[in-house]
Amino acid sequence: MSASRMLTDDGTLFIVAAPSGAGKSTLVNALLGCEPAISLSVSHTTRPPRSGEEYGRHYYFVERAEFEREIAEGIFLEHAEVHGNLYGTSHTTVAGLLAQGRDVLLEIDWQGARQIRQSKPDCVSVFILPPSRPELERRLRGRGSDSAEVIERRLHNSREEISHAHEFDYIIVNDRFEDALGDLQAIVHAVRQRAALQCRRYENLIAELLG
Ligand code: GDP
Ligand code: ADP
Ligand code: 5GP
Repeated sequence: MSASRMLTDDGTLFIVAAPSGAGKSTLVNALLGCEPAISLSVSHTTRPPRSGEEYGRHYYFVERAEFEREIAEGIFLEHAEVHGNLYGTSHTTVAGLLAQGRDVLLEIDWQGARQIRQSKPDCVSVFILPPSRPELERRLRGRGSDSAEVIERRLHNSREEISHAHEFDYIIVNDRFEDALGDLQAIVHAVRQRAALQCRRYENLIAELLG
């Protein structure tokens, strides 16, 4: 049995990615509200906090020099530059949660997803698409959290992010929010019934039924 399988035996690693404004964070927060066994991995970032964002809850906000020092120290499971800022997921955050038997969800970009797939091939990745470009733009502007310049940059970068959608295990179109949330829950529920996991969980039952 491979080392990565041993690690993910404890819990499943979910990745959710999307172009900025597609509704990823809103969907993930709603999912966490109805799936208490999943924990969100809090990333490190050099992006300045938005109004209402808290250190340690939304992100670990750090200066660029500190982030670069952390890269050199090897604390990240993955890291990437997104929209001009550095973002990264720490090994200890993820390993600690998985070892407690919790499912862990990473809200990361396509570059980070690619790195995680290499080191943890059992991960399950989901890409969220907006229903149209005008709607993506409307949501980004409607959120009211970013400057016009940042919104332009994010809209521009959305093409690159979307061009990697096919690398993911699942794609959800976030048109009607409740439908998209239902789709995301369906993926989580299906993954939990995977035979590799169920065979271990129900080892005694299967042995008894065979006996
Ligand atoms: P959002 O687009 O509204 O979610 O804006 P954020 O500023 O929160 O995130 C910007 C981008 O960075 C998104 O594509 C995230 O998925 C990505 N991101 C956030 N955290 C991480 C991380 O730890 N690692 C990587 N690789 N990407 C991240
Ligand atoms: P992301 O994390 O992908 O950047 P957010 O979760 O911040 O996106 O969502 C962007 C904006 O779109 C928010 O104001 C959110 O309330 C809104 N939104 C999310 N999903 C939908 C939906 N299905 N229909 C309409 N608005 C939505
Ligand atoms: P925002 O700045 O709007 O919070 O996030 C912008 C983008 O950065 C989002 O697409 C988000 O998924 C990505 N992102 C956030 N945290 C991480 C991370 O830890 N790693 C990577 N690779 N991307 C991240």
